[in-house]
Amino acid sequence: MATRVVLGSTLIDGTGSAPVADAAVVIDGERIAAAGPRAAVSWPSGAEVIDATGLTILPGLIDTHDHLASHGYALSRRWGLEEPASTAHLRTGAVLRQTLAAGYTTIRDAGGLDAGFKLAVDEGLASGPRLVTALAIISPTGGIGDSVSPSGHECCVAAGPNLPRSVANGPDAVREVVRTMVRAGADVIKCATTGGASSRPGHGPRDAAFNPDEMRALVEESHALGRRVMCHALGGPGLRVAIEAGVDSIEHGCYLDDEPELIRMMAERGIALVPTLTVYVYHRQSPAPHVKARAADLYPHHIASVRRALAAGVRIVAGTDAGGHAHPPNALEIQYLVEAGLTPMQALQAATGWAAECVGRAGEIGTATEGALADLILVEGDPLRDVILLQRPERIRLVLKGGAVAVDRGVKP
Ligand SMILES: [Zn+2]
Repeated sequence: MATRVVLGSTLIDGTGSAPVADAAVVIDGERIAAAGPRAAVSWPSGAEVIDATGLTILPGLIDTHDHLASHGYALSRRWGLEEPASTAHLRTGAVLRQTLAAGYTTIRDAGGLDAGFKLAVDEGLASGPRLVTALAIISPTGGIGDSVSPSGHECCVAAGPNLPRSVANGPDAVREVVRTMVRAGADVIKCATTGGASSRPGHGPRDAAFNPDEMRALVEESHALGRRVMCHALGGPGLRVAIEAGVDSIEHGCYLDDEPELIRMMAERGIALVPTLTVYVYHRQSPAPHVKARAADLYPHHIASVRRALAAGVRIVAGTDAGGHAHPPNALEIQYLVEAGLTPMQALQAATGWAAECVGRAGEIGTATEGALADLILVEGDPLRDVILLQRPERIRLVLKGGAVAVDRGVKP
């Protein structure tokens, strides 16, 4: 692939640096060779020029908490009873394609997506973002990884080798399940130490799952195998157990404001917060009374938690927790982060540079800087003045993934 140079756009590079007007971004193969003000960057005379005058160039966006293979909260959906697995897989394929076309070049899947989708995308069988996948949510019996109906029946669909059973009790069993996930292709380990808004009655946001011995074993085994740990934890003792055990990110963290000491610990230990505000907007309208009540109760705490964590220096990272509530624009989360108190620049970092740190790929993705993969989007308009425009695919004029054109809406490189 010849060297290419994107000229004339405003560069927002994902590091938090001020925007650069009339920028040049030089792409050599799958990587960025240089990026900065046009006058400070050089490129070979034969380079192919992409005229991006009037557009804004950003790193491809990252959602660090999605469920690409989930298509509804109804039990029959969650258990995969409504259609053949092949139909569900093709439905997931359509979501992958749409997500990339909306400018999201990396997705961390927090459960439900098996490693075969990553193989298919890497092989070019399917169009989609780079995938970092957890496979399934590890919890003890009764936790959110335990599929039980309101009647108390266990899930009638057998776990397969690609999405292994994720219930474990006791440190030894926890280690075995972590190893099983890694064997099945997990890039990251997802666990849960509390209930949530949508979990069964009796296991709510402040109800604990896993004891300190089990969580220490989970984190130690995951890290020994080179995997980060993302932990669903909303509040109460389970939130403390997760942070003390040294997980790498807290997912949701709605009641962190109850315990300022935990926020300080997160900042000191570099534990990121992925608040997933988007899913709770949905839950506040839930048809299930217990879910709606939980979402209403946690809302003011959630906003306060995000603000206090940000002020304490905790990395705030974008994730929608989409899937159960279908697949709305992933960039909704950027809007909600601004509404919660991040500056537009911070909210963009939450979905680019900070998100890359959270998934352990800083310098590779999430920043439009020298040496990074050329995952780039060209956007019509200024997202710092109007972050909502990122929710409109027609405003995402060009998507490059590893230097290759994934979507071109009239830019013609
Ligand atoms: Zn989730």
